[in-house]
Amino acid sequence: MADGNADIVVIGGGVNGTSIAMHLSRMGAGKVLLLEKGHLAGGASGRSGAMVREHYLHPTLVRMAMEASRIFHNFGDAVGGDARFIETGRALFFGERDEAAARANVEMNRELGVDIHTLTPPELAELVPQANLEGIVLGVYEPTSGYADPVATTYAYANRAREFGAEIVTECAVTELLTQGGRVIGVNTERGTIEADAVVVATGPWINQLAAPLGESLPISPIRVQMVHLRRPPSLESLNTNIIDYTTGAYFRVDSGYGTLIGGEDSDDLTEVVNPDGFGLNADHNTITRFWDRAKMRFPDFSAATQRGGYGSLYDMTPDGNPILDSSSNVDGLYWAVGFSGHGFKLSPVVGRMVAEFVMHGESADHPIYEFRASRFAEGDLLEADHPYEGRRHQ
Ligand SMILES: Cc1cc2nc3c(=O)[nH]c(=O)nc-3n(C[C@H](O)[C@H](O)[C@H](O)COP(=O)(O)OP(=O)(O)OC[C@H]3O[C@@H](n4cnc5c(N)ncnc54)[C@H](O)[C@@H]3O)c2cc1C
Repeated sequence: MADGNADIVVIGGGVNGTSIAMHLSRMGAGKVLLLEKGHLAGGASGRSGAMVREHYLHPTLVRMAMEASRIFHNFGDAVGGDARFIETGRALFFGERDEAAARANVEMNRELGVDIHTLTPPELAELVPQANLEGIVLGVYEPTSGYADPVATTYAYANRAREFGAEIVTECAVTELLTQGGRVIGVNTERGTIEADAVVVATGPWINQLAAPLGESLPISPIRVQMVHLRRPPSLESLNTNIIDYTTGAYFRVDSGYGTLIGGEDSDDLTEVVNPDGFGLNADHNTITRFWDRAKMRFPDFSAATQRGGYGSLYDMTPDGNPILDSSSNVDGLYWAVGFSGHGFKLSPVVGRMVAEFVMHGESADHPIYEFRASRFAEGDLLEADHPYEGRRHQ
């Protein structure tokens, strides 16, 4: 790629950057150019659990997740291509500590139209007979939840973006955001300069490498998280529901071929701040053991599972665990879509539309994008739940 120009440059080829590029080009934003330093889905997106759910703890996020879930259930028509969405249902296990919050959140979700309901422990045992439910006082079930293939999803957005006229260039890192007189005028890349009227930065945990030189340090920490892969023993082969155990922070995501991916979302699991350019890509031995112990505690038959290793990846964590969707406070024409804090996969079809509308019209049509403004942290007006679950940074 030599020097050139575009109406809008999108930086970052994850689910959110590609979705934004697709929506911008679909909405007729002119020449849209997406630049990715590695390959598409090479960041958090490609290593995502990619679970799709509607249950959220804040009404704005519930509404966004409901719309996104409808899109994943109907991806071929709504986007085009195949996100390989599989409906598994999703069962949540709660101990006494979070029972009241869970009941309040289920009520709020149901009022907004989410198909979700509570279960007594005997009803939960019927749904997940393999589980040891000691200490569980309440179950919650969302039958239409599931998971998709995050790589296929990213490529589907990218393919659609190209069909709408966008250009996508990989292996091309942006090295600098160019400004003049308080406006963005383009980007420098390792392969030349691109002039542009607007730039959308969707670089996840790498955001401050580009923002900081402009004097804008966004409150986003690159946190290393790990995922452990177990091949279920025959007695657990029928465990085809995604499970979130709020007593330990463990989550169990069904994987193809009788596998289960186990992640951790206890506060203690989200403490390892790292350099996004150099962090452990494989799971640590002690994490594999710890997550496997959590699995055995809840599903004793996991003791006969085959351990198949695991991997490390990154959350781009904000202080309230929700993204920043905003324009820069210093530079006109510059936009941020970052800080998805470990739950940005499922929201991507809606975030793409919201950000594209914001760039083109200064507002998002159906969802209050101002709730995701960067200044909320300084203002102390965080996007927080009325009924949070204890011990979690990520709701
Ligand atoms: C283990 C794990 C499990 C998860 N599970 C779920 C889940 O079940 N459900 C859910 O909804 N979410 C989940 N998430 C979160 C979700 O995957 C992310 O929020 C989402 O993928 C973020 O996408 P993104 O496009 O914002 O960022 P990324 O995928 O990180 O993409 C950013 C891209 O920007 C590129 N880039 C960076 N700097 C530059 C530069 N200077 N020039 C050019 N390109 C650059 C990077 O190479 C990268 O490809 C999970 C995340 C992880 C890590």
